[in-house]
Amino acid sequence: MFRQMFEEKYMRFPKGKAKALTFSYDDGVKADKRLLSIFGAYGLKGAFNLNSKLFDCENWHGRMNEDETFEAFYNSGQEIALHGARHIFMDKVPLCEALKETVDNRAYLEEKFGCIVRGLAYAYGGYNTDIKRILKDCGVAYARTTNSSYSFEIPSDWLELNPTCKHTEKELEQLSGKFFGDSPLNHFKHREPWLFYVWGHSFEFEDNGNWDVIENLGRRAAESAAEIWFATNIEIYDYVQAYNRLVFSLDGERVYNPSALCVWLEIRGTTYEIPAGKTVEFDK
Ligand SMILES: [Zn+2]
Repeated sequence: MFRQMFEEKYMRFPKGKAKALTFSYDDGVKADKRLLSIFGAYGLKGAFNLNSKLFDCENWHGRMNEDETFEAFYNSGQEIALHGARHIFMDKVPLCEALKETVDNRAYLEEKFGCIVRGLAYAYGGYNTDIKRILKDCGVAYARTTNSSYSFEIPSDWLELNPTCKHTEKELEQLSGKFFGDSPLNHFKHREPWLFYVWGHSFEFEDNGNWDVIENLGRRAAESAAEIWFATNIEIYDYVQAYNRLVFSLDGERVYNPSALCVWLEIRGTTYEIPAGKTVEFDK
């Protein structure tokens, strides 16, 4: 039997999908309300990165006040994530102050929204290796940078999570064309799953008068919804961790999923669902 093809194992997202789409929007500004309604209309999911001590701050692209922020995001179906209590460069203050920024921010958001907050976007993209280390101690699972990867690769260093691109970048169009027009399933060798991760500030749509950028992206995504997993950042993080915890037999033909999440993988062109806590044997 010709067994050279597709012996490799590839992670597949829930329902066996090979592509995932996620977003990350910063600062908790008034324009987020319009963005939330667009996300709702097309089923898009993402993280909204909020500060906690700047609610009354003026001159910041229309920040929402505390009540508005709660009203906009509570039960929105979107992820609430950290952006520092005061939106400072965490790499330009003593380490203990950076730690307090994170802890204060997390304590406020968890108390206010009654949830567990484990994601973060670096304010001004400011971080270093010491910051990454203390974030881990603060229970932060992932932290997004402002460095575009221009790729659909699954992140390997989650505390230095590079997004695919910002929605203001010219590369967005070409990357969208590839993401919606092609698929890892069309490729013979490199069938790794694709993650399209877009970030920005909703006030940029307002300032540039180009809400059509996100409307178009949402429309194209909704048209391809059958093959794309729409997920928040933390849902993707948790899913990838669950996949990475899979335990295989020596010959790679049997797999045990010790996690509480159902995971999917592809081998020899067939996609398998590995239920939580179960062992599955692949067809030979
Ligand atoms: Zn910001």
